[in-house]
Amino acid sequence: MKEIIVKTHNKNEMIDITRQIEEILRNEKIDSGILTVFVPHTTAGVTINEGADPDVKTDILNSLNKKIPENENYKHMEGNSDAHIKSSLIGSSVNIIINNGGLVLGTWQHVFFFEGDGPRSRKVFVEIMKK
Ligand code: ZN
Repeated sequence: MKEIIVKTHNKNEMIDITRQIEEILRNEKIDSGILTVFVPHTTAGVTINEGADPDVKTDILNSLNKKIPENENYKHMEGNSDAHIKSSLIGSSVNIIINNGGLVLGTWQHVFFFEGDGPRSRKVFVEIMKK
């Protein structure tokens, strides 16, 4: 298993980690299989979406913040329930097919780490299953 360290700078943030994942895959020299990206945090996540226009991630973050306000009548004492809810909606893992030594992603698809309770230093695990 490989690990990527992601440093976040805001409370809510989406960080493109596609290049780091591709670098891990290149070093492993695996031609075909499945690659899993897993985030071991309860207030963060990982998702695949458009990487060409940065406004897309801004719209995703703004919509999440609108739908899941920071201050509601949450019961969780730690005061970061919004981040826990966003983490569950975003999800904690993605699977990507590997073909011809590369990730099978759509033209505009990138892999994004989602931060819901930053700024922090976060871990992302990457495991590859060879075919
Ligand atoms: Zn909490």
